[in-house]
Amino acid sequence: MLISTHPATGKEAGRVPVADAAAVEAATARAREAARWWQSLGFDGRKERLMRWRSLLARRVEEVAELTGLEAGKPHADAVVEAAGAVEHLDWMARHAKRVLGPRRTATRLLLMEHTGHLEYQPYGVVGVIGPWNYPILTPMGSIAGALSAGNAVVFKPSEYTPIVGQWLADTFAEVVPEQPVLQVVHGLGDVGAALCRSGVNKIAFTGSTATAKKVLAACADNLVPTVIEAGGKDAIIVDDDADVDAAAEAAVWGAMTNAGQTCIGIERAYAVAPVYDAFVAAVVEKAGKLRTGDQIGPITMPRQLDIIREHIDDALAKGGRAVLGGAEAVQPPYVAPTVLVDVPADARGIREETFGPTLTITKVADAEEALQQANGTSYGLGGAVFGKRNAIRIARRLRSGMVAVNGTLTFSGMGNLPFGGVGDSGFGRIHGEDGLREFARPKAITVRRGPSLLPAMTFERTPGQVATIIRALKILYGRR
Ligand code: NDP
Repeated sequence: MLISTHPATGKEAGRVPVADAAAVEAATARAREAARWWQSLGFDGRKERLMRWRSLLARRVEEVAELTGLEAGKPHADAVVEAAGAVEHLDWMARHAKRVLGPRRTATRLLLMEHTGHLEYQPYGVVGVIGPWNYPILTPMGSIAGALSAGNAVVFKPSEYTPIVGQWLADTFAEVVPEQPVLQVVHGLGDVGAALCRSGVNKIAFTGSTATAKKVLAACADNLVPTVIEAGGKDAIIVDDDADVDAAAEAAVWGAMTNAGQTCIGIERAYAVAPVYDAFVAAVVEKAGKLRTGDQIGPITMPRQLDIIREHIDDALAKGGRAVLGGAEAVQPPYVAPTVLVDVPADARGIREETFGPTLTITKVADAEEALQQANGTSYGLGGAVFGKRNAIRIARRLRSGMVAVNGTLTFSGMGNLPFGGVGDSGFGRIHGEDGLREFARPKAITVRRGPSLLPAMTFERTPGQVATIIRALKILYGRR
């Protein structure tokens, strides 16, 4: 049995049976059958059921938010906002799957004009989803909603820290789709995730740390199982000289401290240009200083993360950084008080590695160019933010990341129609939006001959005269400058 407990009180939130490798394989085999049935419903049949699930989730949002509080310690408001994001993505995926993935005819090409082209997106079959604990509703939903909308069945392995929320998602889905096990859940530790990779699934959607992503890729390599990897980040906010400094500070504090900083796209570093630096630091300290641990800044869910946060703060201070809020004493297990660090050198761990706590470093830079250079200086590239007016979008384009919010933080994660994913150590592939739907389907190209060939190129029966015509046609069509 896997017993899930509250990170601060230790109170049991629930317990679930642990799967072994054979049970995982059996779940994948059941899912393969279920996938055939699910696929046979077509886009409209699936949409109707997925919309019912969306409505159920929206009606019972307090219930799942409470469960998230019980087992991850997430403050209620944060859990509600998380669940709202999940509902948004499910709604978008269900509504748009047919338009994005449905069969279509493609334009005819002159050299093969007797053929019509057809494109359709076929589901993989069974998608294994491996999820983290920090956003136990929203992050798996990004993959689950895409995979289901595209016509796949899903076997989901939630984090060992949030199995009850994972089970709730599968149970509520079964309430609206009782016919077949289209969404199943398997519980356990990392070995269960590894077993899922080797269980015969046709695709793995992994969300978690970069270190575990590499293990997942190695496990998937044996059977060439394709993957989408949503890994960690070290996101930066750039505050330009024409930014609304107060708004930038408010967004930076929320982006850095929401969910106690345990957010893949959490803001961990700020780069403020010299003219606004002092005002920005003062506003951040003022706003972050008002936050209360407990109801606004929840506990750190994973005990070993507390050591990492403490090490990053200590390392920054040892290397010449200064705490203008919080600091060495901020880590009071299981809580970490908001911490703002300045003058932290670029080689400090808190600048280079994912901290995953309610901490923010603020660095003074000469201009946006230097901000970009420093912001782009880590191996990660997930999200980011820019505050400013004249050049904000130009700066946003040049941030090495998959997503950027301009004059906001984290906002791209809540938009159903935008893709979500990173570059570098933050992973590859996309969830959410049209790209997130296509991630869970294979494009299938079909050509259909409609008449005799005018320029028979692809046959041994072509004559020298026809080859000469092909050469002439090629030059006329493509040879001109
Ligand atoms: P982990 O990498 O520790 O775990 C992620 C999932 O993988 C868990 O379900 C875990 O199970 C499982 N797992 C562990 N070992 C293996 C293995 N060998 N093979 C297959 N699966 C395995 O991440 P966390 O749960 O700690 O989540 C935090 C991380 O997730 C952070 O780095 C964060 O940035 C990232 N993240 C990325 C997001 C994105 O969209 N880019 C969104 C949210 C988080 P178990 O829990 O039982 O160990």
